[in-house]
Amino acid sequence: MKTPASSTTQDARPHLLDVTIEALTEWMVAAGQPAFRAKQVLRWVYSSVVREFTEMSDLPAALREQLAGEFRWWTTRVVEHQTATDGTEKLLLELADGGRIECVLLRDGGRRSICVSSQVGCAMGCVFCASGLDGVERNLSRGEILEQMLLLRRLLPAEERLSHIVMMGMGEPLANLDSVLGALEVARSPQGLGISPRRITISTVGLPAAIARLARHNSPFHLAISLHAPNDALRTRIVPTNAKTGIDAIMAAADDYFQATGRRLTFEYVLLDGINDSDQCAHELVALLRGRVSMLNVIPYNPVAGLPYATPATSRQHRFRAIIEAGGINVQFRQRKGDSIDAACGQLRRKKSASLPVAKA
Ligand code: SAH
Repeated sequence: MKTPASSTTQDARPHLLDVTIEALTEWMVAAGQPAFRAKQVLRWVYSSVVREFTEMSDLPAALREQLAGEFRWWTTRVVEHQTATDGTEKLLLELADGGRIECVLLRDGGRRSICVSSQVGCAMGCVFCASGLDGVERNLSRGEILEQMLLLRRLLPAEERLSHIVMMGMGEPLANLDSVLGALEVARSPQGLGISPRRITISTVGLPAAIARLARHNSPFHLAISLHAPNDALRTRIVPTNAKTGIDAIMAAADDYFQATGRRLTFEYVLLDGINDSDQCAHELVALLRGRVSMLNVIPYNPVAGLPYATPATSRQHRFRAIIEAGGINVQFRQRKGDSIDAACGQLRRKKSASLPVAKA
């Protein structure tokens, strides 16, 4: 007998986006279908805008029905969809268990980038960031990561193509590496989203063991390390996990990554007024990065309501930049996008939950 669906009943069907091509092929064969049907299904999933099994018009009708009974395809609900004047769009998604995550589509010239979450919340506790204020709830599955990508890609009109993916939403991707790599393999695969791995960036707070694992596997993806400070005392103050790792171990892992993969790393540096934007910091940063084949990405802080941090004045930003450039470091200042829609990670979710963050200066 069927039990009536209720909010407390968990849907036990596997998430289609969690199922590998090998597993789907096995399922097809067990269901008495030719093996190629698995590829057919995945072509609909990743290369079309179709949303329902019933629309997969080259599959037998009975198989479409069977698939719908066997697998869930969409497991999240769009709670909010915001569009900023600069073309940035943001989705607040509710997962099947009620957890909430954010993901963003950014338009920059011809680039169409999506910024995707890897966890519900974050355990890293960077003091200026909205995502980690309530800690981490859980890791996202491969399917939940892919679902964000598909939902964001659907926002693009037919003539615009998704070009870049950044794992810079909520969460620490290297703390959920299996699911992240599973999703990114599909993202880069020609049978998946077909995005070149050089246009896919994994951003990390800097977990040396996980960076070493990526290097060992000759990761094809671009790696960005959130440095935010040039010395351990300051970094531990704003990125608390640094107490356990320290900058030296992160730089050693970064060097190994470059050696193993030949891929230039990016270091990210969120510029916080009066905290890490001094001349002294800029000079120390030059000394730290000099001689390394890397790019420094400076991001003027995107203020989070309730937190006691601010964006440095433009004149201070210019001065910081001038010192870095004079030191011969490759640097770019990233334009803030989507300010009007709280596009920095975790901001929208935060605003939509009951309480505002408690300042912890
Ligand atoms: N945990 C990963 C990825 C998520 S955050 C990491 O630490 O890299 C992606 C980037 O956005 C990080 O560099 C993070 O420090 C930065 N960031 C977070 N909140 C921000 C804010 N309010 N303004 C500007 N950058 C922010």
